[in-house]
Amino acid sequence: MKRIYSFGGGKAEGSADDKALLGGKGANLAEMCSLGLPVPPGFTITTGVCLEYLEAEAEKAKGTRGRWVPPGTPVEPTPLPEGLPAQIDAAMTALEAELGKGFGDASDPLLVSVRSGAAISMPGMMDTVLNLGLNDATVAGLAAKSGDERFAWDSYRRFVQMYADVVLGLHRAQLDRIVSEHRASKGVEHDTDLEAADWKHLVAAMKARIESSLGFTFPEEPRDQLMGAVRAVFASWNTSRARFYRRQNNIADDLGTAVNVQAMVFGNMGADCATGVAFTRDPKDGRRLFFGEFLVNAQGEDVVAGLRTPQPINREADPDSTLPTLQDLMPEAYRELHTVHRRLEAHYRDMQDIEFTIENGRLWMLQTRRGKRTIAAAVRIAVDMVEEGLISKEEAIRRVDPGRLDQLLHPTVAPGAARTVIAKGLPASPGAATGRVVFTAEEAVKRADRGEDVILVREETSPEDIQGMSVAQGILTQRGGQTSHAAVVARGMGRCCVVGCSELALHRDGSFSIRERLIEGREIRVREGDLITLDGSSGEVMLGDVERSKPDLEGSGLSTLLEWADLLARLGVRANADTPEDAAVARGFGAVGIGLCRTEHMFFDAERIGAVREMILSDDDASRARALDKLFPMQRADFLGIFRAMDGCPVTIRLLDPPLHEFLPHKADERAQLAETMGVSLAAIDRRVEDLHEFNPMMGHRGCRLGVTNPEIYRMQARAIIEAALDAALEGIDVRPEIMIPLVGVARELELLRGVVISEADAVFARREATVEYLVGTMIELPRACLTADRIAEHADFFSFGTNDLTQTTFGYSRDDARFLAPYQDPDIAVLPQDPFVSIDAEGVGALVAMGVARGRSVKSKLKVGICGEHGGDPASIAFVDGVGLDYVSCSPYRVPIARLAAATAVLEAAG
Ligand code: ADP
Ligand code: MG
Ligand code: MG
Repeated sequence: MKRIYSFGGGKAEGSADDKALLGGKGANLAEMCSLGLPVPPGFTITTGVCLEYLEAEAEKAKGTRGRWVPPGTPVEPTPLPEGLPAQIDAAMTALEAELGKGFGDASDPLLVSVRSGAAISMPGMMDTVLNLGLNDATVAGLAAKSGDERFAWDSYRRFVQMYADVVLGLHRAQLDRIVSEHRASKGVEHDTDLEAADWKHLVAAMKARIESSLGFTFPEEPRDQLMGAVRAVFASWNTSRARFYRRQNNIADDLGTAVNVQAMVFGNMGADCATGVAFTRDPKDGRRLFFGEFLVNAQGEDVVAGLRTPQPINREADPDSTLPTLQDLMPEAYRELHTVHRRLEAHYRDMQDIEFTIENGRLWMLQTRRGKRTIAAAVRIAVDMVEEGLISKEEAIRRVDPGRLDQLLHPTVAPGAARTVIAKGLPASPGAATGRVVFTAEEAVKRADRGEDVILVREETSPEDIQGMSVAQGILTQRGGQTSHAAVVARGMGRCCVVGCSELALHRDGSFSIRERLIEGREIRVREGDLITLDGSSGEVMLGDVERSKPDLEGSGLSTLLEWADLLARLGVRANADTPEDAAVARGFGAVGIGLCRTEHMFFDAERIGAVREMILSDDDASRARALDKLFPMQRADFLGIFRAMDGCPVTIRLLDPPLHEFLPHKADERAQLAETMGVSLAAIDRRVEDLHEFNPMMGHRGCRLGVTNPEIYRMQARAIIEAALDAALEGIDVRPEIMIPLVGVARELELLRGVVISEADAVFARREATVEYLVGTMIELPRACLTADRIAEHADFFSFGTNDLTQTTFGYSRDDARFLAPYQDPDIAVLPQDPFVSIDAEGVGALVAMGVARGRSVKSKLKVGICGEHGGDPASIAFVDGVGLDYVSCSPYRVPIARLAAATAVLEAAG
């Protein structure tokens, strides 16, 4: 196997396609050479050689394991693979010949850099060593050749510092201290104030320190330096830093790193020299401008090290800077760099991150790679590149990760905005919000009615808080995790939310403080009515009003990208929306229908909850009917509002789902008041509450079970839906109601309730002498429903998989109690690869979904099938249900754009 690939002089043995073999850096250096760009020549030792080395190292470790080794015994380094040193020598000889310099030649030395480079860019790997080949003899040659003694000694000391740190493993600080002490003794502040004689002195001092600390002398022989550096790059693959990074990022351990040995060019040889980093577009917002920074008379990492302030390469890149630009100072080199950046972008058809050095006015390219970018830039660049004819629409869609889009869809804390962070919780629902602190849902509603923005702060939330949550700008809880009630509801509403902020101490007097945190020596106390800002993307809680920036779908290019996505997607994207406002938001984001409209949220409204409670607590049919009659007009108005917002789109309305006790008052004073309004005793109320108590409400008297035993509730709801649909049709609205019966497990349940709905609808049609088309279907959320889906389908016009409950019932996990989910995902325990409530468990829950679809369609081949529940907005789950042949997904309004993009991505991935 070929171990070494050379590049330089307009040709290369490798190419950009060889990333696995040559690493990203080596492959792109080869590619740039072949493009005829100015690249200092050199060669790449393949990743395969690294693997050979690592194997030998592992063998050696095996041999010594368990054997007693006296303390202080020096560890013999693993030798380089057999034959490699000779091959490196040959490659160096070729390089010498090409450049007319000698490695170790005291009159005109060849110097090289040794650079690591894996197939996947990996921080934590070995740093680069520059100026290798310098020693006490060659430094004189460099000084003579360049005519600049200070430059030569500065390069030498950089080499000694880097080599000691990177190859010999001596802590950087040890040598840095020698330099800072010397500066202090001379009374100067900056390294730039030191002269050749200083560096000469310092190099000697550093070498002495290396010897005293490590017990061996600094390698003088350039060949030894090189072999040592190559070995260090190989070994760096297995440092704990590198291993940790790979584990975090799911990178395989058996890739290995390549080593690049490249002739040095010098950006630190005077005022006509420079080094810099640039992006072919702005990595922050994706604008098409050439963006970058550089330093005059500098080397390597000086630009990123932050010791000197880098200058912009052109005025466009930083209009505010008063520093001279590269374009001003070195117009020739800049012009060439400008040409190169255009060529690279056109060649790679993607935004590039490039590293360059200018030596005596001459440009050299040292690296190019795909530039990292914000999600905003990713969208902008993808859309622009289609319009520039560089990439196809499909390619544009592939390049934007739907999972990252979330950031673009909510207001965010403006970058650089002044802020005082007082606490940090779990980021549960993205976006940034400012408002006045309230501690109860009632106070939230009261203040919101007055037009105030509020942040609801609770220990944790419960269904009773829904109203308060829906009017709040943001929600902050002290307890609970990513799947707590607050987190789930807030995400559904697109409300910014921070949960599990355990530093928060809530006080009875209507205030909170932060445990063990002082600001300016004082305890922080936030009272009701005080302004705070939440960042639901970072989990930060901040004092006061912090500047935010708004999302802009049009301007960001996202609307365009999503239109392309819609043309590709097989799945339709609907939204889960309970109110006309949410429906309007969903439509604005491109939803083609409502897949889940929950009616119980309407029941919690302050005006209605009284009637709901009366209905639940009444003993006789007459008083129950009276209570339902109060609710009827309100429900009809709700549905009419939603039909108006969704003109021309299907709207799936789910009949009442939760167990009735969820609507009952928990507090004694509320019960007393209810007893009074209803004219019954408090004891009677308490008895009823007691009767309705359930040990496991999730599996209790809810969903269609309620409909079967109390059909009057579903009757009222069906009547309200059909009446509202007729009213809407009269207004000229194209209305498409779909009535959904929840929690069916036995076909007979649906058969009965479908009958209830149809008879109610027929009665309305007869009375009003008009009809409207509607569907009756069911939610599939129990394993038994999947198993008997063929029987159920006989009575259903559509299925909608309620994968939240289906996950709970398939695993037998109660989501609210599943505190073991976090440890289950720990890589060492690895019971679950991910949270099955976030991403569908394809193997179990997904198999049931697939079975439900197949069995349902075996009876009705055209059965319309969708999914609602949080998985409907998760890209991995969307890909799964696309594969199973669903017709649509339904998700919270703010996730609609994510789902639209993910639906298109799923099609592209399935096609390979
Ligand atoms: P990283 O992977 O950390 O970016 P590099 O191998 O790209 O490390 O090296 C860092 C910097 O060192 C480069 O950006 C460049 O400025 C400098 N450098 C590397 N090789 C050379 C060389 N042959 N000549 C001049 N400078 C070099
Ligand atoms: Mg680096
Ligand atoms: Mg680099």
